[in-house]
Amino acid sequence: MGKFDLLNAKGVSRRDFMKIIGATIAAFGLPDLAAPQAANAVEQALNKPPVIWLEGMDCTGCTESTIATLNPSAAELILDMISLRYHETIMAGSGKTSEEAYQEALNDKFILVVEGSIPFKEDRYCMVGGKPFRKTVIEAARKAQAVIAIGSCATEGAGIPGACATGAVGVSEILKAEGITTPLINLPRCPVKPNTLIGTIIYYLTYQKVPPLDSDNRPIAYYGTLLHDNCPRRGHFENGEFLTDWNDPVQKNYCLLLKGCKGPKTHTDCAQVWWNDNTNFCINAGSPCSGCAEINFYNTNSPLYSKHEDAKLPGIGQVSADTVGKTVGGAAAIGVGVHLVATAASGRLKKDHHKEDM
Ligand code: SF4
Repeated sequence: MGKFDLLNAKGVSRRDFMKIIGATIAAFGLPDLAAPQAANAVEQALNKPPVIWLEGMDCTGCTESTIATLNPSAAELILDMISLRYHETIMAGSGKTSEEAYQEALNDKFILVVEGSIPFKEDRYCMVGGKPFRKTVIEAARKAQAVIAIGSCATEGAGIPGACATGAVGVSEILKAEGITTPLINLPRCPVKPNTLIGTIIYYLTYQKVPPLDSDNRPIAYYGTLLHDNCPRRGHFENGEFLTDWNDPVQKNYCLLLKGCKGPKTHTDCAQVWWNDNTNFCINAGSPCSGCAEINFYNTNSPLYSKHEDAKLPGIGQVSADTVGKTVGGAAAIGVGVHLVATAASGRLKKDHHKEDM
């Protein structure tokens, strides 16, 4: 059976396949000419074992998010596109059989995906197959071509596991502590967004290198723009129209800044590529952005849904977020002020935000 025949047999038409490739190419800002090369790389990868997916301390939300995607469907994704060889939640095997599958995959050229945080305090937490999860990550990361840390738990050691006594850390800290130089790609969010994971893997298969990353090791293609700059409620922000009463229908679509929206300091493509196969995203559904696409978002942004940090506005000085609308009539001034202060507060202005292509 030819390589593309495999996709056909799973009900993926050539047209659908090229649509997925085309979307990835566009996200990375690559010319259309790159599409055939990318399609060829993915087709070449069929029947090969390029992905080992490890789960540590997590809620399995990133797995759920990825396999719930309809385009491509979970079956297409797992069976054809990324050749998933080891995944504790999804794989049919268990016990000795799954351990053998893992060991076998370790001997291939593979991409390592890590979901969940890693206990760093003692080696008695999160034992998988009788082995501390930390040691499994170290072993696999040393041999992998690239490591992709998905979700907030794996990228920063946060999430629910981060609140317990295990000394949870993200993948980057483990690599640093062990002196492992395998390229690391961080895909923070709670949970991971399927298009960013699929697109990142397709990019790697095509170019055999990690995509251009920012200073937090996130692909610029997916984390290069501020949510605030593309928000459908931005017009209301500019007009100084802020939602203060959830029960007031007039305010239904107003800016959510005063309800804790972290859009002005969150780098994400959520406003352009919606969740659940483009069904919706937080702000469109009436929820303020919690900033989960940023590293360390929970510690930095808590409380998530109550109050934005105070802002310093040009020519006016420090004002409480609760008085932004009342203090300044000129909405454009608010926009510039809050945006700049929030960005500076997040530390991004001080950082070399865009790293060179690795
Ligand atoms: Fe949108 Fe939030 Fe910015 Fe308001 S503060 S315009 S809701 S991103």
